[in-house]
Amino acid sequence: MLIETHCHLNDRAFADDRGAVIGRALAAGVEKFVEIACAAPEWEPARSLCAAWPGKFACAYGLHPEYVKDYRPEQLPELEKFLADPTAAALGEIGLDYWWEPERAEEQRAMLEAQLPLSVKYGKPVVFHARNGKEPGQDAYAALFARLKSSWSYFPPGRRHRGVLHCFSGSYDDARSAVGLGLAIGVNGSYTYPRNSDLRETVKKIGLGSVVLETDCPYLPPQSSRGKRNDPSFIPEIALAVGDGLGMSAAAVAEKTSGTAAELFGLQG
Ligand SMILES: [Zn+2]
Repeated sequence: MLIETHCHLNDRAFADDRGAVIGRALAAGVEKFVEIACAAPEWEPARSLCAAWPGKFACAYGLHPEYVKDYRPEQLPELEKFLADPTAAALGEIGLDYWWEPERAEEQRAMLEAQLPLSVKYGKPVVFHARNGKEPGQDAYAALFARLKSSWSYFPPGRRHRGVLHCFSGSYDDARSAVGLGLAIGVNGSYTYPRNSDLRETVKKIGLGSVVLETDCPYLPPQSSRGKRNDPSFIPEIALAVGDGLGMSAAAVAEKTSGTAAELFGLQG
């Protein structure tokens, strides 16, 4: 079994062939999907998508730091409605992005603060986004970890992880901090990029026990398809690449990472 832990299938990139894309992924062995709805206009379409594929799809609902300029506190009660919906598996993706708008770091932090307590209130794990800035010292990972350490009190009973740091692009030390905070690491097609030897080394050192697979589609296809639209049917290729890096079979990677993902998001078999 394979689980796609991070897709944006409601993106307009899939407007013409969404059903066919999902069918292809299912045929490729991807059995479950976590759809990420991280802007207010995405919440209802994502809920509908989940409802249309019972047992296959679950949703993360939240407000992405990249959309901070559209953030209004009045959106939070609406977000709560979606977190209370049976389709909700997680809060997210939320976090800090210093790459595009480091000058809005304070606003992003406030938006993160406003959302984090909802994971406790609704008993949901969190999908985190963190991206460092272009200048040295613009460390989104350090800022996120500091916040989580100081006052994120969600501890799901009986689960090993309380969230995932998706599209991991930090250092080995960041990965260790994340795992220490009860987060899994989301690995996607960027693992296969030639320049990403640091990530491959980090995954090797961290071990597969805290890794989940994702595509982040429509962005970040594996190296074999750079420049094209990404979609969840690439999950087996990512499993194969991670297996290559670790000297394991793709099947073993699939089993281990899917077990972690199913437990993290509370997905039933
Ligand atoms: Zn995403």
